[in-house]
Amino acid sequence: MRSYRLIAPAKINLYLEIIGMRTDSYHELVMILQSIDLADLIEIRPSVTDAIKVYCEHPEVPCTPDNLAYKAASLMQRQFPKIAANYGGVNIFIEKHIPVAAGLAGGSANAAAVLVGINMIWELGLTQPELREIAATLGSDVPFCIGGGTAIATGRGEKLDPIPDLTTLAVVLAKYRSLSVSTPWAYGAYREEFGVSYPTDAQSFLKRSQSVHSGPLVQAIVSRDGPQIGKLLHNDLEKVVCPEYPQVSHLRQTMASLGGLGTMMSGSGPTVFTLCASLEEAQSLKTQLINEIANPELDVWTAKLSSSGIHLAQ
Ligand code: ATP
Repeated sequence: MRSYRLIAPAKINLYLEIIGMRTDSYHELVMILQSIDLADLIEIRPSVTDAIKVYCEHPEVPCTPDNLAYKAASLMQRQFPKIAANYGGVNIFIEKHIPVAAGLAGGSANAAAVLVGINMIWELGLTQPELREIAATLGSDVPFCIGGGTAIATGRGEKLDPIPDLTTLAVVLAKYRSLSVSTPWAYGAYREEFGVSYPTDAQSFLKRSQSVHSGPLVQAIVSRDGPQIGKLLHNDLEKVVCPEYPQVSHLRQTMASLGGLGTMMSGSGPTVFTLCASLEEAQSLKTQLINEIANPELDVWTAKLSSSGIHLAQ
């Protein structure tokens, strides 16, 4: 049995709209998700025992059954008990490059890589739709992370419609190192503030989702109109995260003032990104941002938008 080294890219949200509350107590969402080439490296090695073990040196990432990568392996053992008994456990090595609890789906990307890796190690032959179905039980972003690229996500985020990718564009991303935002808190706070005006009927959910599918942002993406995409970036969660975290709000304002095509918080934050026409522009904005906010606590990255989900490392 061989080992696999997999690249697990992060994602940003070009669009995040909270439509309402579902009967399963999750939020109904419409999002446009985009992979970027900032990625973790995951190595999956078959084990001589039945155990799942996770190794990661990042201080904020647990190497326990709480790790999403562990949960993914454990789920595969439960889904395919006979095959698992035959092949044994796995050792999962995570080299973290995606900032943790940053709204960039780092944990979800790791879990997606484990599903893809175990599919190969155990020679299960699962198709991408089959893998996505298993992934949906682990978390809303995990199905997207498998195939990556650019996609409209509806439901909890697990129903995906791929749209043409945008690989010529780039982003500069920034986050205060010690700042993290809890995703459940962000959605809970949004519900508390805006929940009274949520529609409750399935018809309204469908209408909102359809209007995004045929709306101006998707059209701008299809026609690869960078400036128009930049203008139409949207994230409902900014309405609760920015007032609660003034550092995020200030970072967003500063980044927007420096230029680029458009600035937005990703997911539940606290990472803020500026969409740029090229990697060169992103690198130049990174330098300007570091000069403007001379705070050693601020981490800044650049990345290209990517059409890839989980893939083999060279
Ligand atoms: P999302 O954008 O999907 O909401 P996120 O980028 O905000 O995710 P993660 O980086 O996935 O957040 O981390 C969220 C929490 O999950 C952290 O507190 C971290 O300790 C925990 N965690 C568990 N497994 C992992 C993992 N493999 N990588 C990163 N964090 C993990």
